[in-house]
Amino acid sequence: MASIQLEFNKALNKTLSNLLIFYVAIYVRLSKAEEGKSKEEQSRSITNQKSICFNYLNGLIESDNGIIKYVFVDYYIDDGFSGSNFDRPAFQKLKDDIQKKRINMVIIKDLSRLGREHIESDEYLEKWFPEHDTRCIAILDNIDTFSESANNEIAPILNWANERHNKETSKKIKKTFRDNINAGLYMGSEAPYGLIKGNTKETKHQLTVDEEVRSIIIDIFDKAKQEWSLNKIAEYLTNKNIPIPSIHKKSNRGIKTKTFELWDPNTVKDILTNEMYIGNMVQGKTTRLSLKSKKVTYIPKEDWIVVENTHEAIIDRDTFYIVQDILKKNSHKQENSKDYLLKGLLICKECGHTLSIQQNKNAKQSYTVCNYYKKYSKYDVCTSHRFNYRVVEKSVLNSIKEECKKYVDSTNFEKLLKDKEKSKNKINETKLLIKKSTNTIEKYKKQINITYMDKLNNKIDDDTFQSVQYNLKSKINDEQLIINELEETLKIIENKVYDEPNYKKIVEKYLSFETPERTSLLQIIDKIEVSQDGSLDIYYKIKTPYK
Ligand SMILES: [Zn+2]
Repeated sequence: MASIQLEFNKALNKTLSNLLIFYVAIYVRLSKAEEGKSKEEQSRSITNQKSICFNYLNGLIESDNGIIKYVFVDYYIDDGFSGSNFDRPAFQKLKDDIQKKRINMVIIKDLSRLGREHIESDEYLEKWFPEHDTRCIAILDNIDTFSESANNEIAPILNWANERHNKETSKKIKKTFRDNINAGLYMGSEAPYGLIKGNTKETKHQLTVDEEVRSIIIDIFDKAKQEWSLNKIAEYLTNKNIPIPSIHKKSNRGIKTKTFELWDPNTVKDILTNEMYIGNMVQGKTTRLSLKSKKVTYIPKEDWIVVENTHEAIIDRDTFYIVQDILKKNSHKQENSKDYLLKGLLICKECGHTLSIQQNKNAKQSYTVCNYYKKYSKYDVCTSHRFNYRVVEKSVLNSIKEECKKYVDSTNFEKLLKDKEKSKNKINETKLLIKKSTNTIEKYKKQINITYMDKLNNKIDDDTFQSVQYNLKSKINDEQLIINELEETLKIIENKVYDEPNYKKIVEKYLSFETPERTSLLQIIDKIEVSQDGSLDIYYKIKTPYK
């Protein structure tokens, strides 16, 4: 105990010694739903948000124990601007002031103030604010980015203060939530893919089938039943231009999007293992350690709360359980999918370091990241180079296919063969030169022997012997250098030339739709430079026939 206390005191002293000051902005926005209301209600909503945030700030000031200072700077108010649009004047000004270091803390009533779409507000919450050392509090969502960052010395103190504040409310909310779940009411904020939440007060906890995707889900289960792999199903859905669940969700909410994204095998797996499709209500898969925490913990499957037959089934139980067996049987095969095709080939165009590929927290998608940035992001070196790995891979494969098509063109094919012939001639030439130099060295070595014999037989004197020896040895040296250089050249040319059957196989492979193996990929690609705007420069080992 004593040592814990000591550690705590140490941390506290350290904190006190660099007293922290938060310059606080309160950001207020009229949300979409409120826009339709009367002027009076609208202004009440603005006033309401302002006072919720300001009271919260006062609560913090009271509980700071003098350790943390809060300085309220200003309200930033966007009145009547849509949440989906980040070009809101007050929000822009807020960002500006953060960049100018006038603000390092933002309080909002709830996350929807930041933006109507989760992806965008998450981006701010998880990237933009932390990158600008700005603490963000979303009161109703119990999010405080600062108290969650791991390498934060005052986090325990903040947590302690918040805990007292929230404990009672949190208990009440949790209990109602659990009761509802146990009764089979759907408590999620958004219905799972394929199902729709009712939109009246009476039906908002009930699910019905989303007719637009019913057939897609049936199709996915059908293919799985035929033992198609997750990868193959994902590719099939992508090729059929079927929108991925998150994009479909957006269009359900009336948000038009031109984005097209690839299906991820893990998304397919999530669908195939979701009991919601046989009419069961499955909830309680995740929990938050506390309401203020945004970190989600996954609960083991046996502890999920399942209430049977709460809504219409899309898939019959027989099919569902057959598919579960198939998935289990093939699960060991899936693990290999983590072996990324482009591993080690992606290079940061800006700084020249390798990009690594990592999965995000819920392991659903993989992203690239510049290693240099990852390691030293504090020092403002390079940029994240964060791109969806699947998209990068797909675009690399497409570009290889394009490249390979060029070779199929017969005129180019001829030219390619000529190039190859030229290279072959060059190889022979080089080999001849090496041979010649090797012979020369042999000749010099013989001469050394001869002079040595001459010296033994007293045909030449000591001085002559020494100088002749020296001359011959340096000539051998020179010749050896020439050989080394020729061998280097030879290596380079030989690497560029590949034998014909092998080349044909590779071209065929890339023109078919199957995903190539890593080994054949390594044979034709030297490196892929990824620039921060997402463009790719692919360096081929094979020569472009158009050159
Ligand atoms: Zn970089």
